[in-house]
Amino acid sequence: MPYSTTLLRMCVVGDVAVGKTSLTARFMNGTFCDMYKPTCLVSYFHKLVQTPDRNVFLQIWDTAGQERHRSLSPHIVRDSRSAMLVYDVTNRTSYEEVKRYWLGWIAEHAPPGIRLTLVGNKSDLDARSNLRQVSRKEAKRYAEANGMLFYETSAKTGKNVDVAFLDGGSFPMLKR
Ligand code: GDP
Ligand code: MG
Repeated sequence: MPYSTTLLRMCVVGDVAVGKTSLTARFMNGTFCDMYKPTCLVSYFHKLVQTPDRNVFLQIWDTAGQERHRSLSPHIVRDSRSAMLVYDVTNRTSYEEVKRYWLGWIAEHAPPGIRLTLVGNKSDLDARSNLRQVSRKEAKRYAEANGMLFYETSAKTGKNVDVAFLDGGSFPMLKR
């Protein structure tokens, strides 16, 4: 079989400060930092991964603050075959906005059959005190009812980050 290159694109959307950039950086670089500055209009992360039978060029579209004004360019999802919808488990509003706004935005602009994953981030904050505002059960039920995969993650500790991207992006050939 010839050695080929496959391009896999994914986009990450959700309210500001839920941890989209942190998750993407954790997955792509294995790092976490306390503050990511919005630098350009859309930040896109990419990496070339070599597997035994092919090169896989991974592209992950992140956003740089336009989500605050609900002014994301549809091209980030139009060209993706999977999307991650992120909220913060300690911020009820960010979860309600996935339901009220982000899912509809994806449905309007995405190609049919796009693979969707609902991600509740900052799960590490649950361990201390009672910061949690969205239960795992409620979010899981909502994800299932809408045909989405569901994970709770922590970009800070790395918990579930790989599995959320690998399953969510349908990148099984990259499983580490
Ligand atoms: P974005 O606006 O959705 O891209 O969010 P950022 O990735 O910039 O993160 C916003 C803030 O939340 C930053 O201060 C991050 O350090 C913090 N943060 C992101 N992910 C986590 C997480 O999993 N746990 C905790 N405790 N903080 C996080
Ligand atoms: Mg960001």
